[in-house]
Amino acid sequence: MTNAFDNLEVWWVTGAQLLYGGDAVVAVDAHSKEMVDGLNKSGRLPIKVVYKGTANSSREVEDVMKAANNDARCVGIITWMHTFSPAKMWIHGLQQLRKPLLHLHTQYNAEIPWDTMDMDFMNLNQSAHGDREFGHICARLRLPRKVVVGYWKEASTQDRIAVWERVAAAWADAQDMVVLRFGDQMNNVAVTDGDKVEAEMRLGYHVDYTPVSELMEHYKKVADADVKALVKEYFTLYQHDAAMEVEGSADYKVVYEAAKAELAIRSILKEKGAKAFTTNFDDLGTADINDPKFVGFDQIPGLASQRLMAEGIGFGAEGDWKSAALYRTVWYMTQGLPKGCSFLEDYTLNFQGEQSSILQAHMLEVCPLIAEERPRLEVHFLGIGIRKAQTARLVFTSKPGDGITATVVDMGNRFRLIVNDVECIKSKPLPKLPVASALWIPMPNFEVGAGAWILAGGTHHSCFSYDITPEYWEDYAEIAGIEMVRIDRTTTIPAFKKELQMNEIYYMLNKSLS
Ligand code: MN
Repeated sequence: MTNAFDNLEVWWVTGAQLLYGGDAVVAVDAHSKEMVDGLNKSGRLPIKVVYKGTANSSREVEDVMKAANNDARCVGIITWMHTFSPAKMWIHGLQQLRKPLLHLHTQYNAEIPWDTMDMDFMNLNQSAHGDREFGHICARLRLPRKVVVGYWKEASTQDRIAVWERVAAAWADAQDMVVLRFGDQMNNVAVTDGDKVEAEMRLGYHVDYTPVSELMEHYKKVADADVKALVKEYFTLYQHDAAMEVEGSADYKVVYEAAKAELAIRSILKEKGAKAFTTNFDDLGTADINDPKFVGFDQIPGLASQRLMAEGIGFGAEGDWKSAALYRTVWYMTQGLPKGCSFLEDYTLNFQGEQSSILQAHMLEVCPLIAEERPRLEVHFLGIGIRKAQTARLVFTSKPGDGITATVVDMGNRFRLIVNDVECIKSKPLPKLPVASALWIPMPNFEVGAGAWILAGGTHHSCFSYDITPEYWEDYAEIAGIEMVRIDRTTTIPAFKKELQMNEIYYMLNKSLS
């Protein structure tokens, strides 16, 4: 999974024209190749850039855009205008482009060669005005795109391209994502629900109801030897009490059942080619565990959710399919980066003046990628849902540090992405509530951060990452064409309320224009 980017490409198309003669285009071509090679050799781009030549006419532009649409490896297009490329020739091609677009405003040479610059040089180096001509047609077409301005050899320029590459790849990943829902939404919950048809149209992923009885068919087929091997793996990976290893002990049996549930979920995800799933604690198989025909999980499969999240499988609790899909996207965008991500829930508040914070946890399902230390496998009673039972889980506290959490809510006429910068501070173990957790102060502080989140209608569930920067979410919202509001160090409530009001009008009008 970690090498998923290896099979992907972004295409580079250089805008030129034949006005300056064939020799000029040959020179432009050589410059472009050198720049693409330079980007690929920089070591800063996670996805290779493939040079697709110069586009010198409307037909050539259209051909390369159509080819990009039809090539599964291509996750996006970078355009750069080396010469003055008249932009009317981009209209038909750009109208057909279905992949993310990055317009790079750069120049082959860094500085002006004052002493030697002549008209030949000018004819070959017209990015300064060529990129404006191209920018105009993108604006005129109302085309979603990222504009990156900077010298191509600079790390800061390359890093901005790298972020967009990761987001474009995650976007491609979401376009054939299937989310399985074992059971429905938790009854009566509004914020995690929404329009699944609109989600597929707008965000790409497909959400399927999957009867728990179907999951149980997989559960029945799990082999005892496979379960024992997985339990053994748990014992090598996680801290635990030695007594737990005794086969026949009560704790061993609980861990055994948790492992069996994990193998059943893995099996059905594989069979259906799904990248994400949701669970519901009221729907775990046959209701009565004493029923002689009982087939069901004996506990909420939280350990499975924790471990699958760490491998990039999207997860949302209580039927929260939007969070399940978004978590998969967060993990996909940040794969290979060092600090980790997790599905989390606003658990309880900690009022402490300026240091007021929010404990982030869940009854079980927190991803071990954010753990500060080696997670500890524990078994405790969990008194919620249809199965009030001894339940296996990984317990840990999370790394201190800055991060960003995000959620998508359905506003009825649009999806709204809400992004909040947060500062994770030192958390403490909870001896009477042994769950994994993080503790954060939302920016700019608890009062304004939580207040703005609530005004925007944000969920109690969110997808958190230490590695993500706001630029990822800006790029994602741009590609998806959805609203984004960001709560950060500069947020004030009056300005934020005004932004929400303005967005309401924008999306009302935008809907009637499109
Ligand atoms: Mn929850």
